[in-house]
Amino acid sequence: MMGAQLKLALVMLPSHLLSQLIGTHLSPTDLVLTPNLIAVALTPTEPNALCPVCGQPSDDVHSRYRRLLADLPICGRQLALILSLRRFFCLNAGCRRHIFCERIPALAAAHARSTTRVAHLHRTLGFALGGEPGSRLAAELAVPTSADTILRRVKCTAPQKLGAG
Ligand SMILES: [Zn+2]
Repeated sequence: MMGAQLKLALVMLPSHLLSQLIGTHLSPTDLVLTPNLIAVALTPTEPNALCPVCGQPSDDVHSRYRRLLADLPICGRQLALILSLRRFFCLNAGCRRHIFCERIPALAAAHARSTTRVAHLHRTLGFALGGEPGSRLAAELAVPTSADTILRRVKCTAPQKLGAG
């Protein structure tokens, strides 16, 4: 490897295994390894998506876009998921949303740049260590983020009842 990118044939990594590991209805289309990063390109396997406003399914694709998500590391290497997602026309004439973006709620919140798994880890680091120390440990764990992001994740956590349980 010696710093050069090594592209693996997908036959070396069974796609169903990777889909199970990632935990949602996405199929791998490409895989790139570098000394510090594993990048996996994924595309949805579902032919349609639900409108987030009216809930009606649509298979009428308007356009496609890419979304990059940081996921938990593999063997000490950062893991980046490159999602090829779709925008759909809502087929419900009475719906106020005409075009909507495909969402993967099992993987990440809308507009998030990391998976829910990574957000949970950052929040845990924030509760245990605070912003700056949490950020330094996150970098060591191959899930780098800023101290501000860690503190924001802590602040967004709903307060729990003290003495419950
Ligand atoms: Zn709709």
